[in-house]
Amino acid sequence: MSLAIGLVGLGAIAKAQHLPAIAATEGVHLAAIASRNATLPDAPSHHGLTEMLAAHPELDIVSLCTPPQGRFEQGMEVLHAGRHLMLEKPPAMSLSEIETLRETAAQAECTIFATWHSREAAAVEPARAWLLERKATRIAIAWREDVRKWHPGQEWIWQPGGLGVFDPGINALSILTRLLHDPVHLKSATLNIPEGRQTPIAADLTLCAGDTPVTAQFDWRETGDELWRITIETDEGDLAQLDKGGAEFSVNGAQICRGNNHEYARLYARMRDLVAQGQSDLDLAPLRLVADAFMTARFNTVAPFDTEAAQ
Ligand code: NAP
Repeated sequence: MSLAIGLVGLGAIAKAQHLPAIAATEGVHLAAIASRNATLPDAPSHHGLTEMLAAHPELDIVSLCTPPQGRFEQGMEVLHAGRHLMLEKPPAMSLSEIETLRETAAQAECTIFATWHSREAAAVEPARAWLLERKATRIAIAWREDVRKWHPGQEWIWQPGGLGVFDPGINALSILTRLLHDPVHLKSATLNIPEGRQTPIAADLTLCAGDTPVTAQFDWRETGDELWRITIETDEGDLAQLDKGGAEFSVNGAQICRGNNHEYARLYARMRDLVAQGQSDLDLAPLRLVADAFMTARFNTVAPFDTEAAQ
């Protein structure tokens, strides 16, 4: 049996990753889409979620690929319609929204899956297994990319609830909280918000996991190549790097693991299996750290940022 998926929001990530991943995953198929602007030649296309749900009683799963603002209302509609729910990261705009989605899914006996695609990068599990045998003594995250290259035309990232630089930064936090056994706590944060904008363009975090200090630098003002790297020092004197967003892992300069990107195919296979087992998967640790940063940060206003022009 193949599970019928309805996909909502045909933006950058839906086109680049969700559609090919659904097509490549056994046991699921695309049955319909809901998009305000786009249609697909090979799937019934509806203007909105309500129309899609009404037209397709056969839909088993709805996958939301929309921005975090509005995702709660869409998620509640999906669960009230008795369908299983798959959420892009971040799973909601706030912690209280996602808690209500969790409770509603349980009451409706539906699966809810808060996906963290970066955890599915090829080298994350090998790095985790390697770290299980040792103790990290220091961890440094550097997550820098050019916002003009990676988020062209995306106004929602600058609006309240859009997370700003935490939109990519939460990927690093999702890997960090998977790598370590100890819970991760935020100690302090500095958020740099361009004049006239609502969300940070850069953030510096100090965190800890047990007695292991962790620093994280997120910056959207990178104009060279992106850097998505986690550096780990251990009690055995090793220097390890999880690089390229989790795709590559090296220890003392020697490559241990490197793999192609199958992040979204793994997410859809996991969703299929969760539905089959009647389970949910909702780890909120990365979202909690972001919420903590917004709650406790020192806020700086920095120079206005033009999203169009090169600086
Ligand atoms: P995007 O390119 O802006 O696409 C979002 C789509 O959602 C839009 O194309 C639009 O599709 C729909 N939408 C519904 N309400 C909207 C609203 N009020 N404002 C804007 N769009 C609205 O964004 P994206 O990069 O695909 O990101 C979507 C989600 O995926 C975000 O949570 C993001 O964090 C996550 N994500 C993105 C990436 C990436 O590299 N881009 C990677 C991983 C995860 P219709 O016109 O079809 O209605």
